[in-house]
Amino acid sequence: MNTEQRLDARRHDEPLTMTNELSDGKPPALTQLAPDVWCLRDKIVNLFFVGSKEKWMLVDTGLYGSASTIKRTAEKLFGANTPQFIFLTHGHFDHVGAVKTLAEEWNVAVYAHERELPFLTGRESYPPPDPTVGGGMMAASSFLYPRSPIDLGERVKAVNGERVHGFDEWQILHTPGHTQGHVSLFRERDRFLIAGDAFVTTKQESLTAVFTQKVEFHGPPAYFTPDWISARTSVEKLARLKPDTIATGHGQPLRGAEMQQKLETLARDFDRIAVPAQGRYVPESLKREADKTSSPVPVKVLIGIAVIGLGALCFGGKSKSSSRKFKRRAPRLSHSRDIRTV
Ligand SMILES: [Zn+2]
Ligand SMILES: [Zn+2]
Repeated sequence: MNTEQRLDARRHDEPLTMTNELSDGKPPALTQLAPDVWCLRDKIVNLFFVGSKEKWMLVDTGLYGSASTIKRTAEKLFGANTPQFIFLTHGHFDHVGAVKTLAEEWNVAVYAHERELPFLTGRESYPPPDPTVGGGMMAASSFLYPRSPIDLGERVKAVNGERVHGFDEWQILHTPGHTQGHVSLFRERDRFLIAGDAFVTTKQESLTAVFTQKVEFHGPPAYFTPDWISARTSVEKLARLKPDTIATGHGQPLRGAEMQQKLETLARDFDRIAVPAQGRYVPESLKREADKTSSPVPVKVLIGIAVIGLGALCFGGKSKSSSRKFKRRAPRLSHSRDIRTV
């Protein structure tokens, strides 16, 4: 049975989880989250396929160099049909890596919030990251991450209205803070939330957590968040939606009552849980004494290790990925736990 037949044979009340040969017990690279939503994990970041063979969109585009993996996955899911367009939650390098290549090859438009357009049309760089926040190697090495704008020229357009054009079930929510034009997508029917980096479900500042995808609720990746007041308002807005399923830019997708409770806690205690104790973008009013137990190794030491770690993360195991095949795996939903990965 090929992948297509397996997808057609699924039961809608039984989420199908697919994985590839290389998952080795780690979260699968491709996961079906709803009958018409799939999450592809590209090393450190997630991107989403939304729709059906008749009509679909790509939400975010992963890291640079991921275009062929995305195209191959799209062909498995939707055959030869190209997407209606590419939709971006925001323009950080780990969400726009393949956007130029894919938009040109598919000859499609790219949609983003109008306040994100300066970073997608070559006009403005993102503010410098703050490697001192978060206490992990992903944070410490953030000074290496690209923040210059990409230039999509005429291909990029501002989202217009409150709904995704042609996918009217999906509501566009402006959720600034992590970036000024950050948006999330919400579908009322099944309370499905694609939150981008408005908040994440793993400690993205930590290289270990990024490798293991350990589930933890956090605000937006701290090193790249310049506006904590807006970030808090955005998380409050998303928590009020009481989503049933959350799919974030980093970390595992989750659903269930415990997930909702943790999201509410994150919104209520945002200043304590999400906002760093100190940092260049932390407002004076929110600064506090750093938690000694999570006090990081000096940044210079972390930077050295981080460069090595990131090299392994980005370039390791590349040859194996070319033999990627999809396999069906038993559904991973656990009814014994409320918070569950999907
Ligand atoms: Zn981001
Ligand atoms: Zn990100």
